[in-house]
Amino acid sequence: MMQRSMRLMGVVFCLFAGCVRAADKPAMELWRLDCGKFQINNVNLFSDVDAYGPGPKQLIGSCYLIRHGDTYMLWDTGLPVDVLNKPFTGKDDIESSLNITLVDQLKQLGLKPEQIGIVGLSHYHFDHTGQAAAFPQAKLMIGRGDAEQLRANPEGRGKAVTHWLKGDGNLDAVDGDRDVFGDRSVVMINLPGHTPGHHGLLIKLPVTGYVLLSGDAVHFAENLATDGVPSFNDDRAQSLASMARFKALAANHKAIAIIQHEPNDVKKLPTFPLSAK
Ligand SMILES: [Zn+2]
Repeated sequence: MMQRSMRLMGVVFCLFAGCVRAADKPAMELWRLDCGKFQINNVNLFSDVDAYGPGPKQLIGSCYLIRHGDTYMLWDTGLPVDVLNKPFTGKDDIESSLNITLVDQLKQLGLKPEQIGIVGLSHYHFDHTGQAAAFPQAKLMIGRGDAEQLRANPEGRGKAVTHWLKGDGNLDAVDGDRDVFGDRSVVMINLPGHTPGHHGLLIKLPVTGYVLLSGDAVHFAENLATDGVPSFNDDRAQSLASMARFKALAANHKAIAIIQHEPNDVKKLPTFPLSAK
């Protein structure tokens, strides 16, 4: 009798609470994390055909947390903590500042840094590798061409990931596309051009559907609309091909396409600490 009424209570709770119990938590979740902000005082750095007017232009940095079952994966690790609360002066071509660290944001979700099992990096630039060192136990995944760039300059651009370059951490150099969990739910997409081993990330969520993260295959909306190639990209032809692939993948999967540095794309995902499911 007791058991029956307990079960009945469960059903009633289910009706009102949408059947959310610990055992029923969704298979996957995706959070957008704040990974900094930028003031671009020379916007034509982002166009090798001088398409843009004078600055300044404001951009953002974003990172992403994915829960796949019990495994947590970070996508990009943002600006380094040295630029925490750094004010903009209008003097440099590109200025950067961090509002909050990744570790402090994870704390708001009740997560400790050691619970991150995988750190995926879109590419080797400092605004994406900045806080990787906070997650030394994680497997580091990055395109092989970019892993080579880091190895070639361990004291400079490689400094943020010294732990893995020295062989103390698990570094997984990715060739082509990579199905991270083997179930097509999270796939690193080969989008070279900005850097030699640059990747985006295609995520398939159980309720939301597909989300496509750009890495820096494109930096802001006008870049994508006009096939704008920054003058500092590694390879122009590859950059154009990767932007075409990004657009076609997004269209074919009806994906929420997110340009990671575009302020207007922040609203495409729930506001932290809420997650997309
Ligand atoms: Zn970037």
